[in-house]
Amino acid sequence: MTESPIEADSEIEVFNPADAAVIARIPVDSAATVRAKVANLRAHQRDWEDLGPRGREVWLRAFQDWILDNESRIADVLQSETGKTRADAVVEAPAVADLIKYWSGHARRYLADTRARPHSPLFAIKALSTNYRPYPVVGVITPWNFPFAAPAMDTIPALAAGAAVLVKPSEVTPLSAIELVKGWREIGAPPVFDLAIGRGDTGAAVTDQVDFVQFTGSTRTGRRIAVRCAERLIPCSLELGGKDPALVLADADIDRAVNGITWGGMVNSGQVCTSVERVYVETPVYDEFVGKLVAKVDSLRQGKDGKDFRFDIGAMATPAQRDLVARHIDDAVAGGARVLTGGTPRGGFYEPTVLVDVDHTMACIREETFGPTLPVIEVADEAEAIRLANDSEFALSASVWTRDTARGLRVARRIEAGAVNVNDVMANAFCVAVPMGGWKQSGMGARFGGRAGILKYCRAQAITAPRLPAPSDEVMWYPSTRLGAGLATAVMRATAARGLRRIGLRAPRRG
Ligand code: NDP
Repeated sequence: MTESPIEADSEIEVFNPADAAVIARIPVDSAATVRAKVANLRAHQRDWEDLGPRGREVWLRAFQDWILDNESRIADVLQSETGKTRADAVVEAPAVADLIKYWSGHARRYLADTRARPHSPLFAIKALSTNYRPYPVVGVITPWNFPFAAPAMDTIPALAAGAAVLVKPSEVTPLSAIELVKGWREIGAPPVFDLAIGRGDTGAAVTDQVDFVQFTGSTRTGRRIAVRCAERLIPCSLELGGKDPALVLADADIDRAVNGITWGGMVNSGQVCTSVERVYVETPVYDEFVGKLVAKVDSLRQGKDGKDFRFDIGAMATPAQRDLVARHIDDAVAGGARVLTGGTPRGGFYEPTVLVDVDHTMACIREETFGPTLPVIEVADEAEAIRLANDSEFALSASVWTRDTARGLRVARRIEAGAVNVNDVMANAFCVAVPMGGWKQSGMGARFGGRAGILKYCRAQAITAPRLPAPSDEVMWYPSTRLGAGLATAVMRATAARGLRRIGLRAPRRG
C-alpha cells in the first residue's frame, strides 16, 4: 500500500484568530503512527461490539455526564482556538450531550435484528433475518467551524453502533477534539476512540487505513476522499459545502424573517455549512425587508469575547477564510453590487455585511462564502424565487418564509436541497430524527435520520436458517435432472407469472 508522505516530527501551531496569539504547538502524527493507532483500535473493537448496545450505553452515558460537567472549560478551549463569541462557544457541549442521550438511548432498538417474510412460497421453509454489524474502524475527518461538536456528532452514533473511531480534526482547531478524547479516557472507557493530529496528509493517512470515512468539509477535499475510498472499495459519507437560499415570500412575517435570516447568516461568523448565503425577496416586501435587515445587522456587536457574552459576532477562523470573504465582497462591488452595511475586514474579523444589486454570475452567489455576509436579490414572484434558489451547484438546505404553512410546505417540495426549514433556519440540523445531508455538490449520504443514522455505520448481514428439519438433499442440488429442474422451475414460474396461461395451467391460445 502507498503510504502518505507526512513530514516527520513536524508540529502544528494553533492560533487564537481574534488576536493572532499562538496558544499551542502539537506534534503531527506520522502515517506510521496513524497505522499503529488504527491497529490498536481494531484490536479493541471486537470487545466493544460484544458489549452490546446496553453495555456501550453505560460508557456513553458516563461520557455525557463528563461533557456536561466540563462544559465551561470546553467552551474556553473552543473560544481560544476559533475566536468564537461566548454565545457561539457554549452551545457545542450541551448539543453533544443531547446527541449522546439520543443515540445511546435508541441504539438497542435501532440495532435490533430485523425479520423478513420470504418473498416466495418457495422459501416459506426459511427463517430470514438481517443483523447489523459495525464497520470495525470508522474515520471521522472534520473541519474547523465546530471543533468540538463536529468530531463528536459523527463519533457518537459510530461508537453506539459498536465501531471504534479515529478522529482527524482540522489542523486549525485540534484542541477541542483533544478535550473530547481526553474525556473518553478520563471516564475510563475502553480504548476505542482516538485522535490523529495533523494536516491534510494525516487525513489522507486515515482514509488509507479505516473501514468507513465520515467527512465534513469542502467539496474539493470531499471529492478527493471519495476517490481514495473508491480505490480502496470502502464506503464514505460526505457532508460538504452549502449555499443555502432563504426565500422571503410576500406574506411572510417580516420581523421573524429578518431576525431568523440575520442569525442564520451571521451565527459563528457565517462559518456554518447551513448558513443562509443568499436571500430572495418578493417585490411587495423587498424594501421593508432590506430596511429592517440593514438595521438589524447594523446593531450587531463584533469583537473578541470573553466569558461575558459582550459580542454577537466573533472572528473568522483563519486569515485565509477572512480573505476569501473579502474577495467575494470585492468581486461583487466591482460587478455593480452595493454594500449597505459592513464590507470591510478588520484584523482577524470581517464585518457583518449586507449586499444588494447582486446577480447570479457573482462569486458571492455561485461559490460558498462561509462568512458573515447576506446578499439580497429582489424577485418578481414565488416561481422566480424557486428558480433562482435551485440555480446552484450546492443543495444542502434552504428556508422559506411565509405566514401560510401549507404554501411553505408546497414551496419546500419544489426546492432542490437536502432539507428545507419553513419559517426557521438550521432547525433540521438539530432534529436528529430526520436526515441531514446535501444533494448535488453538497454531499453524499447523510448524518442523523433516526435509525438510518446509526445503521450507516453497520454492514447488513443476511441470515437464512431452516424452519423445519432439513432433508439430506434438495431438488436443485447435484446431479442435475430433468425432473428436479422441471419441478423447481414449475414452482418458480407459478409464483412469478401473471395469469393461468403463463403459470402453465391453460393451453396457449391458437393463432
Ligand atoms: P477542507 O475540506 O480542506 O478540510 C476539512 C478536513 O479535511 C480537515 O481536517 C483537513 O485537514 C482534512 N483534509 C484535507 N485534505 C485532506 C485529504 N486529502 N484527505 C483527508 N483529509 C483531508 O476544509 P478547509 O478547512 O480547508 O476549508 C475550506 C473551505 O471548506 C471553506 O472555505 C468552506 O467553504 C468549506 N468548509 C465547509 C465546511 C462544512 O461544514 N461543510 C466546514 C469547513 C469548511 P487540515 O485542516 O488539517 O488541512
